[in-house]
Amino acid sequence: MGCPVILDRDGTIVVDDGYLHDPARLRFLPGAAEGLQMLHAAGHPLIVISNQSGVGRGLFTLAQLEAVNRRFVAMLQEAGAPLSGLYFCPHDPRQGCACRKPNTALLLRAAAELDFAPSTGVVIGDKSSDIELGTRVGATTILVTAAGSASDGRPARPDYTARDLAEAARIIAQARAPCAPGTALEEDA
Ligand SMILES: [Mg+2]
Ligand SMILES: [Zn+2]
Repeated sequence: MGCPVILDRDGTIVVDDGYLHDPARLRFLPGAAEGLQMLHAAGHPLIVISNQSGVGRGLFTLAQLEAVNRRFVAMLQEAGAPLSGLYFCPHDPRQGCACRKPNTALLLRAAAELDFAPSTGVVIGDKSSDIELGTRVGATTILVTAAGSASDGRPARPDYTARDLAEAARIIAQARAPCAPGTALEEDA
């Protein structure tokens, strides 16, 4: 089994539509379906962790989010990249919850439920909060960016930068070391 790959949803796998709440508007980003399929074929469990504060902000309901998630799960299945886990934080940032990225509660829950050590994971996302999440648990981090910087405009220090998920999948395939605990790249293991 390959190391678990923990992915952000909006702006990483699908187009960030801004508080997306209509399943019909879900669209893969370029390279996303290909990259996820490569990762799944190589034996990496795929886990999605997503901040969905639109629920807490009252912009859409939990039922709407669940409808989007059902379509999202089906899209990945159809792309040959079924998910092992899907976790989301529905809270408004002002609630100060423990699960909104970069807080680690959802990643730790995924690790407990799916039985892996958080530091053996690879965290992939388009925002500084995704990279910070990975850094906090000692995981390997990949920033997905076409522009060369985090999409929230904040500084991020990822281990790797990829143009899209297809490139991220190639990085993981080539740099097998991050998937093996105790190697030089596993600084905090
Ligand atoms: Mg994102
Ligand atoms: Zn939360």
